[in-house]
Amino acid sequence: KIYYDSDADLNVLKGKTIVFFGFGNQGAAQAQNLRDSGIPNEKIIIANREDNYAVDAKSKGFTVWHDFAKAAEVADVIFLLIPDQVQPRVFNAITSKLKDTAAIVVASGYNVFFKLLNFRPTQDVTMVAPRMIGSSVRSLYEKGKGFPCFVSVEQDGTGNGLAVALALSRAIGATKTGAIASSVREETAMDLFAEQGLWPNIIMLFREAYSVLKEAGCSDEALVYEMWMSKEPAEIFEAAAEEGFIKQLKHHSSVSQYGQLNGALKLDGTAIRAHFKEILYNQVLNGKFQKEFTAIEDALELQGDANPLNQLYKKSEESELGQGEKRVRARLGLS
Ligand code: NDP
Repeated sequence: KIYYDSDADLNVLKGKTIVFFGFGNQGAAQAQNLRDSGIPNEKIIIANREDNYAVDAKSKGFTVWHDFAKAAEVADVIFLLIPDQVQPRVFNAITSKLKDTAAIVVASGYNVFFKLLNFRPTQDVTMVAPRMIGSSVRSLYEKGKGFPCFVSVEQDGTGNGLAVALALSRAIGATKTGAIASSVREETAMDLFAEQGLWPNIIMLFREAYSVLKEAGCSDEALVYEMWMSKEPAEIFEAAAEEGFIKQLKHHSSVSQYGQLNGALKLDGTAIRAHFKEILYNQVLNGKFQKEFTAIEDALELQGDANPLNQLYKKSEESELGQGEKRVRARLGLS
C-alpha cells in the first residue's frame, strides 16, 4: 500500500509537542520540513548535547534543550534521530519519563526489530524511514517534491498510531510522492541483507575482476577508470532508476547488450541463492549479526588498530584493487 497526502490529516498533530532527539543528518532535515509544513515552532523541541548540532539548531530558530529527560517529559511525539548504535543507551535511560500515550518514531527498523528499546504497551511505536540522506529529504521538500519513505505502525497503543504516523510522514514531506507501507522486519531485512549479502558480493566481484584483468596485462589506470572512476556504473544505476533495471541496457552497444543479457541468463544462481538465504535467515533475521555487532560497537570509538573498522579497512586496502587504486590516485595527485 502507498499512502499519499490525501491519506494524512495534519490536524491530528494539533496541540502536540514534538521532540527531536538529534539534529544531525535526518533530524535537521525532518524538523525543518515539519515546521515548514505548518507545525508551530513553539511546539517543536530539539534535544541535543551542547555542541555544533545544537548551535546549528539554535541558529535555525529552534528551541534546543540539552536535557533529554526533560524533553522526554513533554513529548507527545518523539523522533529518535540519533545514530542507531546509541539509541538503546540514550532512549532506555529516559523511557520512564515519557508519557504513557507518547508516539515514538524511528527512521530505521533495527532497534525496534531486535527489541533493543523499551516501550510501554500504551505507547505508539511507528517507523517513518526516508530512503534518502537528510540533505535530500530537505532539498526535495524545498523543491516541492516528495521522497521515497517507508512507514509502519509497530505498536498501536493509543489506537491512533497510523493517523499520527501518516500525519508526521506528510509533515516531513514523505507522502507527496507516496509513502510505502512497510514494517521494521522488512526494512531491517532489506537493509542488512543489502549490506551483508548483496554489496559484499559486489565488492568481491570487483576485487576478483580487477585481479584477473591485471594478470592479463591491463594497467591500473585503465582498470580503475574502466571499472568505476569513469562513473559509468553510477550512470547505469541512474538509468536503471529512471528507465528500468533491464531496459536501461538499450543504451549500450549491441555487443554489450548481447554479452550482458546472455551472460546473466547463462549463470547458475543456485549457489548464490543458497548463500543469500544463509545470510538472510542465519545471520540477519535470527539476530546473529546484531549480537556480533553489539559485542564490538564500543570498540568503534577507539583509535588505530584497536578499532575493528580500521582493521577491516586496512585488510581490504591490501587487495590488488586497493593497491592499484592507491597507485593511480597518487599519480593523479588525488588523496
Ligand atoms: P547522525 O549521525 O547524523 O546523527 C547525529 C545526531 O545524533 C546529532 O544530533 C548528534 O548530536 C546525536 N548524537 C550522536 N551521538 C549521540 C549520543 N551518544 N547521545 C546523544 N546524541 C547523540 O544520524 P542520522 O541522521 O544519520 O541517523 C538518525 C536515524 O536516521 C538513524 O536511525 C538512521 O538509521 C536513520 N536514517 C539515516 C539516514 C541517513 O541518510 N543518514 C537515512 C534514513 C534513515 P551530537 O551533537 O551530540 O553529536
